[in-house]
Amino acid sequence: MQHTVAPVGIVRSCFKEKFAIPRQPQLAPAARGVLELLPPFDQGDAVEGLEQVSHVWLLFLFHQALEDKPRLKVRPPRLGGNKSMGVFATRATHRPNGIGQSVVRLEGVEPGRLLLSGIDLLDGTPVLDIKPYVPYADCIADASNQMASAAPDAIAVQWGDNALPQAREHALRLAEPLVELIEQCLAQDPRPAYQVPPAERVYGVKFWDVQVRWHYPQPEMIRVLEVVLA
Ligand code: SAM
Repeated sequence: MQHTVAPVGIVRSCFKEKFAIPRQPQLAPAARGVLELLPPFDQGDAVEGLEQVSHVWLLFLFHQALEDKPRLKVRPPRLGGNKSMGVFATRATHRPNGIGQSVVRLEGVEPGRLLLSGIDLLDGTPVLDIKPYVPYADCIADASNQMASAAPDAIAVQWGDNALPQAREHALRLAEPLVELIEQCLAQDPRPAYQVPPAERVYGVKFWDVQVRWHYPQPEMIRVLEVVLA
């Protein structure tokens, strides 16, 4: 059986590239975005009642990781990128039908727009469906996953002399919690697990419309070097 699906909306996200997006939602509460609903769902009727809900499930398309050939095994970054696992044992982006799912906080509901935080979604992500989080059914107290039993360890994030004032200035301009966003995302240590970079190597990523650059003065420590307009 084949079935065609169509997006109900598109996410406008703080994340402009895949690098440095947290591996799951909720790891960076300051990661915000807007889900812009598409016709006919852009009318108030489609979201009536949603203001009573704190979190929603988003089912979405990994639109920048779609592949023609199905993979049976994948190499999740969490396992260092050199150990393969059955695709259904992982939350990897390369998967049959390219479907992802994330629980995100619903900060506001407007006709045609949902205001979101704690997202792990790239800008432009097509959303296929939205469902309210139902705590009694969705929160399973005795659930276990031996491969991912806890959130990844956070690493220390320090600010270089100029970088913090720069980040604060852009945060004011954008009216966004940019300092927290940078700290929360970089604390997840975006570099691939197997990479031990020399201290002089500079990494960068675009959040909103700013470029953030950092390096690793020690293997488990990040220093933010600058936050400038991209
Ligand atoms: N929470 C979702 C899930 O479990 O299905 C996503 C988990 S996946 C491991 C998270 C990663 O997906 C992020 O770190 C980001 O790099 C990537 N990502 C987010 N949106 C994407 C998109 N639209 N296309 C391709 N990759 C995306």
